[in-house]
Amino acid sequence: MATIFTKIINKEIPASIVFENDKVIAFKDINPQAPIHILVVPKKEIPTLNDIEKEDSEYILAMYLAIKEIAHDFGISENGYRVITNCNTHGGQEVFHLHFHLLGGKPLGHMLAF
Ligand code: AMP
Repeated sequence: MATIFTKIINKEIPASIVFENDKVIAFKDINPQAPIHILVVPKKEIPTLNDIEKEDSEYILAMYLAIKEIAHDFGISENGYRVITNCNTHGGQEVFHLHFHLLGGKPLGHMLAF
């Protein structure tokens, strides 16, 4: 089912887009959790990580290559960053269109799991 991210992909609603090619779009998270918080979204409606199929491999690779390029452009490659995908209820997923959160711009500390 289409989500708000499809509307952003189709330019039906605005977003602060930082990267785009034929497979991926990336834009600033509206509610940032770090100085740099970018969402990297495939231009295919894959609801959750559980729904990834082998045929989606080009999209998944494109997402990682986009992250690499964005991290370089934002000057955080060297110091580092964190990449997160939330899946379903326990993962805290709110938008059911697969995405990576790219977080950086300061030391992020340990991962919060408890
Ligand atoms: P998740 O909980 O992993 O599904 O993350 C969804 C993310 O999308 C949240 O961090 C929201 O702040 C973000 N978000 C929701 N709507 C928008 C929007 N219109 N533009 C940018 N980010 C959004």
